[in-house]
Amino acid sequence: MKYVKLLYEYIDVFLNFIYPRNIYCILCSASIDRDEEYSICYECKRKLKFIYGKTCEKCGKPLNDLYLINKCNDCVDNTYFFTKAVSCLEYDDLSKKIIYDLKYHKKRYISYHIAEIIYDRLKEENISCFDIIIPVPLHEAKERERSFNQAYLIGKYISKMTEIEVDNKALLRVKNTVTQNKLTKEERMTNLEGAFKVVNKDNINHKNILLVDDVFTTGATVNRCSKILLENGAKRVYVATLATGRNM
Ligand SMILES: [Zn+2]
Ligand SMILES: [Zn+2]
Repeated sequence: MKYVKLLYEYIDVFLNFIYPRNIYCILCSASIDRDEEYSICYECKRKLKFIYGKTCEKCGKPLNDLYLINKCNDCVDNTYFFTKAVSCLEYDDLSKKIIYDLKYHKKRYISYHIAEIIYDRLKEENISCFDIIIPVPLHEAKERERSFNQAYLIGKYISKMTEIEVDNKALLRVKNTVTQNKLTKEERMTNLEGAFKVVNKDNINHKNILLVDDVFTTGATVNRCSKILLENGAKRVYVATLATGRNM
């Protein structure tokens, strides 16, 4: 049984390796022109809520034009340790599908297109002054179960695009926490206590870090990672995620 599972994993890796980019839409499977950005068809691109215009200067969530200040209510009330976070899409059923297809349906090739979207957003936001890319780690038990860490796959492609090193060994998740989205805001905070550990201080010392993850919800996870990275000598932490919610 173990060998059959292994065989399927190899087939899966192989199919992901040969998957032709920019032929089918990653969302609806319609055939597309080769020059269509992100391997997403025009219709799906139109439906996705790309974030642009007014955003919170701290957490990157979209703000409606009625906001008089450039910070969302959440960022006025909370202390975030990272310098700035940016996101590309509003989290809804469509952007969720991209993330779920990667994470749970194991369509690894999607990580390349997520990296492309994040890379363009970083350019738009003028975030280029980072020295190292660190993916939000998974606990090793969860990584074994899923067979990959989606944040690391995305980080690896951003690394290829920017030619900046990605390090998935410096920051580890040492506590196998309950999935954050089932918890209240307060529970999320305690759930993450002692969850992360820096094991390679030398590689983060005095460096500006780009922390990468798939979704920014309350920001509790990336905030905890930022705190521990800064406590261990990092200079600044920027956060980049594919999707985020909207604060009312
Ligand atoms: Zn489509
Ligand atoms: Zn904010």
